[in-house]
Amino acid sequence: MNLHNKTAIITGAGKGIGKATAIALAKEGVNLGLISRSSADLESLQQALMSTCGVKVYIATADIANKDEVEQAIEALIQEMGSIDILLNNAGVAQFGTLVDMDSDQWERIIQTNLMGTYYVTRAVLPIMIAQSSGNIINIASTAGERGFATGSAYCASKFAVLGMTEALMQEVRKSNIRVTALTPSTVNTELAVNAGLSIGDEDRMMQAEDVAELVLATLKLPQRVFIRNAGIWTTNPQ
Ligand code: NAP
Repeated sequence: MNLHNKTAIITGAGKGIGKATAIALAKEGVNLGLISRSSADLESLQQALMSTCGVKVYIATADIANKDEVEQAIEALIQEMGSIDILLNNAGVAQFGTLVDMDSDQWERIIQTNLMGTYYVTRAVLPIMIAQSSGNIINIASTAGERGFATGSAYCASKFAVLGMTEALMQEVRKSNIRVTALTPSTVNTELAVNAGLSIGDEDRMMQAEDVAELVLATLKLPQRVFIRNAGIWTTNPQ
């Protein structure tokens, strides 16, 4: 699929995987709608991409955990962008602790952001894709959605749920020509990983946000008649 002049909404676009994918898509000529909670990161990315790539870039601040904020942000972006060809559900948070020790508010916040946020954004964007009879939805899950580990109860539960929701939605909308994909990266060298103490010693050997962006591009560029249902991306030699 040729991505030139397509439109994409990316959540969590201010940093990490979302930012790297915004840059990669802009280089392909994709016009963008970018969402995160803070505007400063989005504004500088908007300036950079509009001047270097010549694409249109719209921004909206929203906490994806808040349904009203999501609906307002998506409505504003759709007004400006007209149509939405691609949705990258990327925004997410990670915190770790034993089930007993972890504060229940923190636990709920992870589910509210990673699962409910992905649901709110998808629910706000999907009607336009169904009306168009076309679209691409890519959800950034995690290897934590495929196997549980100690201290990961909230994060793993959120990502297992994202994978389940993604597969169910895929079966609902593939007949409307909408491709729904889940990507499951292992540890990526971003602020999220560093803050969670997940980074491995040698940063150069770690998977980079740009590597995940390459996988997003490859997924989107497949012929429209096929789609990636689920794909993992791992660091080759982490030791
Ligand atoms: P990151 O570097 O921390 O960036 C996260 C981005 O999401 C930021 O722009 C942040 O901006 C935004 N964001 C966070 N919470 C938000 C909210 N409630 N509403 C709107 N925007 C929000 O994270 P990352 O590592 O790129 O992670 C992106 C996705 O990949 C997440 O879903 C994560 O679970 C997944 N993932 C990460 C790894 C990894 O090792 N890094 C591995 C597998 C999967 P604001 O703070 O301004 O909102």
